Amino acid sequence: MKDFGFSVIKQRTIDYDQFDGRLLNEVLEIEPSFKVCLSCGGCTATCSAADLVSFNVRRMNLLLRRGETVELESEIQKCMLCGKCMLVCPRGINLRNVIMLIKKSILKYKPVNS
Ligand code: SF4
Ligand code: SF4
Repeated sequence: MKDFGFSVIKQRTIDYDQFDGRLLNEVLEIEPSFKVCLSCGGCTATCSAADLVSFNVRRMNLLLRRGETVELESEIQKCMLCGKCMLVCPRGINLRNVIMLIKKSILKYKPVNS
């Protein structure tokens, strides 16, 4: 990894040379609308699940794009698949399908000993 001149907490290190992008690639291939997400946060602000539990669609998006499947698996269970986020998305992204695809495929890409 490139030396930026400061240290990082080992457990939170995301090495983009090593990260596992297979789940992200699968999701983007089946649901290409997700490629145009502009991270506006509209989905996060209107999420029904976030009113009830600690859940953040933006964080889910970040975990997926970083290949952090262990954290993503527990986070994704909190979505109720109500589809409210899709009603406000300015890019018309089918977020419910994105979440369904993650739920369906995440076990394939999760590290075996986690
Ligand atoms: S509302 Fe749509 S464009 Fe905005 S962050 Fe959510 S998915 Fe991305
Ligand atoms: S489908 Fe999931 S992410 Fe979207 S508003 Fe409903 S609970 Fe939140």
